[in-house]
Formats: sequence, C-alpha cells, structure tokens
Amino acid sequence: MCIADQPRNVSSTPSKKPRNVSPANTPSHSDKNHPVLFGSLTAPPGVKILNFSPGPTCLAESVEEEIKDLFKKDTLNSMYLSHRSPEFVSILKNTVELSRKAMAIPDNYEILFTHGGGHGQFAAVPMNLCRTKSEKATYLVNGTWSKRAAMEAAKYCTPTIISSENDDGTFTSNPSFDNIDPGSKYIYCCSNETVNGIELHRLPKGLHAPLVIDASSDFGTKPVEWEASNVGILYACASKNIGHPGITMTVIRKDLLDNASDICPGVLCYKTNILSDNLWNTIPTFNVEVVGIVMKWMLAMGGVNQMEEWSIIKSKMIYGVVDNSNGFYGTPLSDLNIRSRMNVPFCVADGDEDLTTEFLVQAWEIGIVGLRTLTPFGVGKYLRASLYNGVSVDKANILRDFMQEFALKNAHRLR
Ligand SMILES: *Cc1c(COP(=O)(O)O)cnc(C)c1O
Repeated sequence: MCIADQPRNVSSTPSKKPRNVSPANTPSHSDKNHPVLFGSLTAPPGVKILNFSPGPTCLAESVEEEIKDLFKKDTLNSMYLSHRSPEFVSILKNTVELSRKAMAIPDNYEILFTHGGGHGQFAAVPMNLCRTKSEKATYLVNGTWSKRAAMEAAKYCTPTIISSENDDGTFTSNPSFDNIDPGSKYIYCCSNETVNGIELHRLPKGLHAPLVIDASSDFGTKPVEWEASNVGILYACASKNIGHPGITMTVIRKDLLDNASDICPGVLCYKTNILSDNLWNTIPTFNVEVVGIVMKWMLAMGGVNQMEEWSIIKSKMIYGVVDNSNGFYGTPLSDLNIRSRMNVPFCVADGDEDLTTEFLVQAWEIGIVGLRTLTPFGVGKYLRASLYNGVSVDKANILRDFMQEFALKNAHRLR
C-alpha cells in the first residue's frame, strides 16, 4: 500500500543506477550518477563521516565506542547471552531503571522492549486498547507516519481521522486537538513527524481520553509530562535517538492493560509481555543493552533537559542559515512553532537540480552524508538534516558552516 501513502508532489526516484566510488573514479561535482544522490552513506576514503540520516543513524561517538568495547570483554555480551540468564535479566533490569530515570517515567507505567518497530506498534495500539473493531479512536494526522498508523489502525478499530494534510499531499501544520469524538478509547498523535519535519514541542494537556504517542523520532530529546498530558501509551522505535534498529520501547500506563482484543497476537500484547517480565519470547537482547548505554550516556550528559537544549541550539543553527539566505535555501515550514528540532527539511535554490547536485556532492566531499535518503515516499525537492541526540553541536556547526559557504559562493546563480 506504499503507493497510497505517497505524497502527490514528489518526482520519481532518479532512474540511473549509482556506481561504486573508489579513489580512482572519484566523481566530479556535477556527476549525475554520484552515489550520494542515491542515498549512499559512504564518505570519500579517509574522510570522517558526519551522518545526518533520518534513521537508522549513528549514536553519540562515546556511546558507539562503549558498544564496540562490549566485544573486547572476556565475559559474554548480550549478543550471546540467553535472554533468561541471570546476566541478561540484570542487563534488562538496568536498562529499564535507567530509562525510567532518564525520562522520569512514573511507577504506574510499565516499560516494554519489543520487536516489530514503529509499525508493530501501529497495529499493537488498537489491538491492545480496542476489544472490537467497532470501538473508536481519534487519530490526529500531521504527517506521513501518523497517516500510516491510522491506515493500519483501521484494520482493528474505527478511527476518526483529523488530518492537516494539504490538497497537494503535503503537511505544513498540525491538526487541532479540539472537537475530539468523546467516544474515543484513545487519542493518537505523532510528536515528531520525521519525514515532514513537524514537531509538537510539548504534548497537549487536559484531554479526556488517554493520549497515545508515536515518539519514535523525538523520545529522549525533550521531557514528557506523563500525568499532565494523560499519556496512556508512548512508543519509540529505537533507531533515531535511543538505539539501533530491531527494538522498540513502549511505555504503558497500567490501568490500560485489560482492554486487549482477542485477536491480539502474543508478541504484540502488552499484558502478555508484562506478565512474563518482558521475556514471553526472545527479545532483542543486544539492543536492550544498547538502549541502556544510551540512557546512561544521556544521564551523564545532564539528562533530557540538556538534550533538549542542544536540540534547540542545533536546529536554530540550521534554520538560521535557511531563514537568512535570501531565498537561497527554502523550507516548507514557515510556522516556527511547529518546526521540528530533529528533522529540518530544506531545499537548495528552490530545488534546482544542478545546484542541489553540487550541494550534495560538495557536502559529501567533507564527509556530510544522509541529507538525501531514499524513502518509500519518493525523492522530492527537499533535502533533510536530521539532528538527533547522536549529532553533536559541533557536527551541526560543520553543516551550518558548509551551508553558509555554499550559499555565498552560489548566490549569483539563483534564478
Ligand atoms: C522511523 C519512524 C517510524 C518507523 O518505524 P519502523 O521501526 O521502521 O517500523 C514510525 N514512526 C516515526 C515517527 C518514525 O520516525
């Protein structure tokens, strides 16, 4: 069903196949077949990679170092440990405790680690909160992922969709949280729309039904007011801010555990997994350890408030260049209140193909990759700089400087 999800204003993927880069055939600036134009993430030989991918992506350098060190120890690491061994049970307990501490998760919430990614939760949420398909939920759709979640939910419940989609298939605003169907079992929203670059910097408060949040791309980057926002469920696939692909963290308020549909598969059923201490089946053991290392790092750096401060600084840097470029760079998002701190979409010279190609290739020459990635939603005119917790302020600075210089050098070519 990917076709149905496709925004209508994107051009198709470039048709020519990328070729391999080797020192012998390092491409020229205007090379239309350059691998970086096709989403390649390999930097030139000997150049350090600066990864601005939307995810999966790199974690903080010291975190990646600690992960590598796990393989240098004499003891088994979680890659090889039985999930029921006392060694792994203690790793799991540690990751849960650090996550609770780092994100101030109250005791009336359970924390689960599961397979299936964000998409698994698109299905798990309605199956855990609606007993029958006729039970209702409200989906606030502000971008690609919440739209997909609503389509998936329609298989298992009856969603009312309140969408801010424009006629041309783009998203440039958030829908209103007023006028929510009072019969809703839950209210669903995505706190950061990764593809569209739209963020709820704070969750709404005072809603009558529990809030379900897809925080896949912003969890760990700002505080969550669990009680005040009536958070029922919050989930995050790990591969943006809190780990590597293959694991999803789901936080579930305990009073919601008795509403699952009979058709809910065991691997997606919150209660089944909680009653077995998150060991109903084999969980992604190594990834659990990685999430623990990330949470420990966050706490050591000053916690989630520090992460938020850095996120604000980094996104302001990149948006600052865009806004002060006299139209050299553009953004679809004029409303400052909704601009994501995680994902900054921008175009070069209104999408001019030659200048965009030169921009990407010259960025690649200094190691900057991930600004154009291939998505199921096509290649549009916008590039995207993703500024997750793993991207340091220094790295964002390098991108900012490059963008500024490129605009200065090429401003005269703006049509
Ligand atoms: C990346 C992402 C997803 C996709 O999750 P998978 O792990 O690929 O299933 C879902 N929602 C948001 C907000 C995302 O950023």
